[in-house]
Amino acid sequence: MAPPHKITDVETDHETKPGRFSKDFSYHLSRESKLRQKSLLKEATSYLTADPELISLAAGLPSSQLFPIEKITAEVVIPKNAFHRTGIWDHDGLSGIGRISKGKTDIANGKSNYDLTRALQYEQGAGSSQVLTFVKEHMARIHNPKYLDWNCILTGGNTQGMETIFRMLLNPGDTLLLEEFAFPESVEGLRPLGLNLVGITVDDEGLSADILEDTLLNWDLKFPSKKRPHVLYTVPTGQNPTGATMALERRRRIYDICVKFDLLIVEDDPYYFLQLSEYVSGSDDVKVPITSEEFISSLVPSLLSIDVEGRVLRLDSLAKIIAPGLRMGWITGNEKLLERIVRHNEVGLQCTSGVSMAVIHGLFNDTWGQEGYLDWLVNLRADYTSRRNAIVGACEKYLPRDVCRWVLPQAGMFLWIQLDYTKHPDASKGIECVETEIFKRALANKVVILPGGWFKVNPEYSGAFFRATYAAASNQEMDSAIQCFAKTVRESFGL
Ligand code: PMP
Repeated sequence: MAPPHKITDVETDHETKPGRFSKDFSYHLSRESKLRQKSLLKEATSYLTADPELISLAAGLPSSQLFPIEKITAEVVIPKNAFHRTGIWDHDGLSGIGRISKGKTDIANGKSNYDLTRALQYEQGAGSSQVLTFVKEHMARIHNPKYLDWNCILTGGNTQGMETIFRMLLNPGDTLLLEEFAFPESVEGLRPLGLNLVGITVDDEGLSADILEDTLLNWDLKFPSKKRPHVLYTVPTGQNPTGATMALERRRRIYDICVKFDLLIVEDDPYYFLQLSEYVSGSDDVKVPITSEEFISSLVPSLLSIDVEGRVLRLDSLAKIIAPGLRMGWITGNEKLLERIVRHNEVGLQCTSGVSMAVIHGLFNDTWGQEGYLDWLVNLRADYTSRRNAIVGACEKYLPRDVCRWVLPQAGMFLWIQLDYTKHPDASKGIECVETEIFKRALANKVVILPGGWFKVNPEYSGAFFRATYAAASNQEMDSAIQCFAKTVRESFGL
């Protein structure tokens, strides 16, 4: 069961509820975050939310009668029930069409518990409680957090959520640990905050627990001039750009190391539901789970679900599983930390876009329901599995194995191809030089594929890599692109 939504009164009933509560990590907060006060105007609005009969002469909320948007309707996909099948995907699970509709008087008419009068109005910093009710039920079912005072707040997507979290936890001069290759926008957002970014070596399963532990044990020797880190930022599933997914054992070890060295964990997990089905070389069949329980238990448990102390702040995004332009996601974590984010939202984001919240409520709550959402996600998994299989099949067909190596992506949208640059004629000029030469040559051969160096966190990194995505191109296009890339590699290495 998801907890009731109560970010702003976090101190209540902790003594009376049985079970375990999160620890107080307020000593990890940045100076900026500690200074944030509650917004007085938002407090006035919360009185109205609690008692709709109050007559408000308080906050500057425009009358909903003057919102010129009377209704939003949208044609949406109604995913077919993915679970009553033979266990093999039949490629048409995303084809049914239905309609969602949100008007101004849907609550008064008993049609829905959320309508445009609410959605288009100013909202509390945590976002719509009606949308959050759905989200929390979903999070409870999928991640089942292990302490009582967890909660969720809506974001404008993970980029926005991360920016807020980093400002909440880090002062200029602080050190942040992350994977040695990272999503450029997170790194670009972090550098101007005046942080020391230290990239931890990754292997086929993502961030190396051994190197993380060794780095923390020997911090003062390795980085005598840098402050000890107190935050780890990680993308554990289908990492961007490496495509790596940590297995449960790796996640447990990383969590334990973070407990030992008292690091908070920012779990950025937009690819969680793109955990793919198995790959069988030469087969077009895509296996799908046949019950929702089987689907849920096939997902690698998140760091949030391992966390017993409330030291993980988890970011989920709708960008990769519904649509990036909605700019919507949520943060799940301990209420004491979330309360600081709400305070920040009150003077920044205010709240997630009302149009996006209305559309998502119409889709999730009024139309799909929890099971329909899982149907959508299973069909999506199958579609991405088919794409992943196509690109991996093309790699097997064309890439010269004496200089190319790749790991089968278990999740996400990215294939990470490693080149043995030591065999390249220009090896002595360094990894970046080899990558750049191949990048330019591939462009001339009409393929854009991104060099690993574009994602580096540290000045030095551990090998020559290229990131290819299988998210958008057709199977035929991927086949041609990998064939061209293989030709490029052969030319460049003089094979
Ligand atoms: N984190 C990672 C690891 C990503 O790959 C991306 C998208 N490329 C994002 C965050 C951005 O997510 P959003 O669109 O929700 O801001």
